Amino acid sequence: MNIQHLSKRLETVVSYIPEQSKIADIGSDHAYLPCYAVNKGIASSAIAGEVVKGPYLSAKKQVEDAGLTREIEVRFGNGLEVIAAPGEVDCITIAGMGGTLIASILEAGKDKLTDKTRLILQPNVSAISIRTWLMDNEWDLIGEEILEEDEKLYEILIAEKGNPKIHYSKELEKELLLGPFLMKNQNDAFIKKWNQELRQWKNIVNNMEKAEKTEALEARKSELIHKINMVEEVLIL
Ligand code: SAM
Repeated sequence: MNIQHLSKRLETVVSYIPEQSKIADIGSDHAYLPCYAVNKGIASSAIAGEVVKGPYLSAKKQVEDAGLTREIEVRFGNGLEVIAAPGEVDCITIAGMGGTLIASILEAGKDKLTDKTRLILQPNVSAISIRTWLMDNEWDLIGEEILEEDEKLYEILIAEKGNPKIHYSKELEKELLLGPFLMKNQNDAFIKKWNQELRQWKNIVNNMEKAEKTEALEARKSELIHKINMVEEVLIL
């Protein structure tokens, strides 16, 4: 991967950036995403945010080497605190972290989001934490994708401010776990992901059945069985 050729995962994230956006890429690491988006003329400007010194310095070097220091500012800071004021950017990308961390970044930086911000979020795990945060904070999930790259499965969630109930039905619990768009249009990656999860959960339940019973263990087991039933009800294959 380099600033000319992104991974399929990051290229898919970029495909949801509206033309001529001012973007902030939080947890930018090598700054490939903002360099690519600006080079392609998709983003008009970018902030690359990093909270760790090493990646911050490598993002700075990348932007300098690409000759993009006028368009891209690399800022050191935690989450959305690198955005100086609401409205400074109109699209925020956060990719390659756990869903719980992404949701906590959004929660801590709520005051930097405006009604016009688009969020493009790519959790490595626990997309449910993001869907729950979006719903609790009146963000509308407007699209989702799931894809496989190098034998890893990635979900991408796109959200804008708005009524979050629009895409959710009485199947809310299942939709938060599996994704309302993804479960309606089940592709190979979706089927693979949930079959992997099912196999893992069933193994855990089997092992729990052999272990000494405690209240906590039984509660965890019922929770897993509930999740297994939900996923089996949704999966087409
Ligand atoms: N976004 C890139 C991608 O998807 O390829 C890099 C992902 S890398 C695994 C995660 C990056 O997020 C790391 O460089 C880490 O330092 C940064 N990070 C983690 N928590 C952060 C936070 N609260 N604020 C800013 N950056 C953060």
